[in-house]
Amino acid sequence: MTATDKASELPHLTNYLKDLYHCSDCGYCVDAIWEERDIDHICATLESHSPGLSYSGQGYIKTARAWVEGEDLPLASVSEHAFTCTSCGNCERICPIGMRPMEINRALRSELIARDLAPESAVAIQKNVLEQQNPAGAPRAERYHWAQNIETAERAELVYLPGCASAYARPQEAQAAMRLLQAAGVPVKILGDSDSCCGAPLRELGFSDDAARQSEQLGAALAKQSFNLLVTSGCECAHALANEDRQTSFAGWLASALTEGKLQLAARSSTPKVSCIESCQATLGAVPNDNQTLYDILGRLGVTVNGGAPTSRFAMCCGAGGGAPAMHPQSSTEMARARMREATAKGQPDAIVSIDPRCVAHLDAARSDGDPPVYGLAEFVDTHFHLSAEGN
Ligand code: SF4
Ligand code: SF4
Repeated sequence: MTATDKASELPHLTNYLKDLYHCSDCGYCVDAIWEERDIDHICATLESHSPGLSYSGQGYIKTARAWVEGEDLPLASVSEHAFTCTSCGNCERICPIGMRPMEINRALRSELIARDLAPESAVAIQKNVLEQQNPAGAPRAERYHWAQNIETAERAELVYLPGCASAYARPQEAQAAMRLLQAAGVPVKILGDSDSCCGAPLRELGFSDDAARQSEQLGAALAKQSFNLLVTSGCECAHALANEDRQTSFAGWLASALTEGKLQLAARSSTPKVSCIESCQATLGAVPNDNQTLYDILGRLGVTVNGGAPTSRFAMCCGAGGGAPAMHPQSSTEMARARMREATAKGQPDAIVSIDPRCVAHLDAARSDGDPPVYGLAEFVDTHFHLSAEGN
């Protein structure tokens, strides 16, 4: 059987046939160290789960190629490997010839899902999203519990979309975002019962059809609304809604509000010193990405960032992505601990700030005694700043 014959049995991998034969085995996605570019390895799975080549972007391409060529692979083992990637995308960014190892691994996952070989914890996430519209399986009816005491508008030009992580795991971020939006004098509405998961957690896991349906469902709910600006808190939601040209991230909105003078903020007491933990999901989107926007905002507010903004384009995953906390809790926690160690290595900050609520919730859960508090961007600004006299 030729590779092309076999490929017809592997429809999800078919789109990547050319890529499978173009990887040059350079190994950048496995063990890149490049001092001038501030790169010291890029794959959190290799760093904190297993250093084996078969857990790397290069390894996923090799596995996919072997399968397409008809090699008799132990598929249970392939599944164990394929479902460890956290979907950070660093292997794709660093690849010098534009290979897509993360996407190929998602296609691998889709093939395994089609053969009922996905891990139970991945199937549980799928069930949670389909039944409760969030990956953790919290009751759908509680999606807007965080907004119970917040006044929202019936008619408004701005829709705030918290995303699953802010809605359930980090409601403080959604509440703080709403306070800042409203402090800028902007009437804000929410989707309420018609809100749903954007499908990003399913797309990461390889449930591509379900992810597409989730995206369509949310798109249909938005289409029934009249608005001219959609503000999202979740980096993965922002990425999933990239085709919605009225969308901006909360970080993007805040940067504009500060630039345009809609919000004028002053520190409540002494300006805190912080470390930032970047979101790998933010680096999947536009350039400049929201990690850079975070540094811009902090600089504008006079906040000192330990070590300044890094020059690397590669944000190491904190372990919150790709369903890792459910599938590999120990490795996922170790990834978070590694990011916390890096964040405090250049001196103890007053706080750690990150822009993605999914990361913030995960990092906070992995904190040890003595670690500084972890905040989302909105929480941090809301906690440490107030409207200045000009802004009142
Ligand atoms: S997407 Fe990230 S975690 Fe997955 S293989 Fe690539 S670098 Fe590793
Ligand atoms: S996927 Fe790209 S970076 Fe990784 S080994 Fe192949 S060519 Fe090199």
